[in-house]
Amino acid sequence: MIPIAKPLLGEAEAEAAKAAILSGWVSQGPEVAAFEAEFAAYVGARYACAVSNCTTALHLALEAVGVWPGSEVITVSHSFIAGANAIRQCGALPVFVDIEADGYNIDPAAVRAALTPQTSAILAVHQMGMPCDMKAIMEIAGRARVPVVEDAACAIGAEIAVHDGWRRIGRPFGKVACFSFHPRKVITTGEGGMLTTDSTTLDAAFRLKRQHGMAVSDVARHASRAVVFEEYPVRGYNYRMTDIQAAMGREQLKRLPFILSRRRELAARYGAALAGMPGVRPPAEPDWARTNWQSYPVRLDHDVDQRALMQHMLDAGVATRRGIMCMHLELAQTDIALRYPLPRSEAARDGSVLLPLFAQMTEADVDTVVGALAAAIAASRVRVPARFVST
Ligand SMILES: *Cc1c(COP(=O)(O)O)cnc(C)c1O
Repeated sequence: MIPIAKPLLGEAEAEAAKAAILSGWVSQGPEVAAFEAEFAAYVGARYACAVSNCTTALHLALEAVGVWPGSEVITVSHSFIAGANAIRQCGALPVFVDIEADGYNIDPAAVRAALTPQTSAILAVHQMGMPCDMKAIMEIAGRARVPVVEDAACAIGAEIAVHDGWRRIGRPFGKVACFSFHPRKVITTGEGGMLTTDSTTLDAAFRLKRQHGMAVSDVARHASRAVVFEEYPVRGYNYRMTDIQAAMGREQLKRLPFILSRRRELAARYGAALAGMPGVRPPAEPDWARTNWQSYPVRLDHDVDQRALMQHMLDAGVATRRGIMCMHLELAQTDIALRYPLPRSEAARDGSVLLPLFAQMTEADVDTVVGALAAAIAASRVRVPARFVST
């Protein structure tokens, strides 16, 4: 059986976790501080603040950039539901816009059209690790003076071309970028998240609110030779990361260059094999972007039945997933009145399939998936009634 994904973990992570446990300091201590410093250096941001997961990171980010209750946050429906939940946790309303005609990312023209005086932020998602068009989005946001938060949950190691070379996602184009270390992402700490920013004020707000709004850190109080009475100037949350997770994360960062290059090799092999295959279209990388291939989505022709194809592949020992969800089609979000139709988002969910991709895969595994896909396509063609075929 070839699974859809598999984290690359080993003795290094186990030893690091063990050392953190035996140190006696297991929550938000020296390992978290070191992980933050190394992460900030990797992406090229001034600050990185570790939290419990990317959903809590999104909540802190949206609140800190000024999303107010009753306001509107422009984002895609075609993304993981955590985006809408974090917006709603701020008491704001997601305004869902459609994705681009090619690919799976937010359509900047749709963002521009959706701006209103009630818009408090734009939540731009780098879907499946593919950078979205930050240049266009920042132009629109800048003119409207609306802050941009980047949902970079999947996008560690992805890059955008700028005038003097390549710039990693996380060195913020917008005000802040939010990452996930869930096992389904490219590197993992079990659960975990990170906020990166160049703003001293925002970073201070994240640090305060992730630990109950407490003005002094546990580490500082522990190290003090004078008695410290802590204070709570603002209402906060408990969004802390443990030192056990951070110790794992530091080892994962060391593996990241290998993981990225291996994912890119395997994706290139998929791309070459799928280029001429009838029934499917492999994903394309714009010349200004480098994805990390957190997922590998292929688009199916209209006459290929998605569910039948996925079942055929499962029967052949290959796990797949359907295209990224549409939040507006889930019961939890159907109380939101749609302002725009989202035909491209729905077509992407129902007309694409994610193929297995992880660093431990072999070339032979890729060939097995490709073979299973070709057979599954042939077996999943449906006859499209003549009256639905445009002439
Ligand atoms: C995974 C994911 C999240 C949520 O991350 P968690 O760490 O599981 O909270 C948010 N947005 C996107 C686009 C994701 O893929």
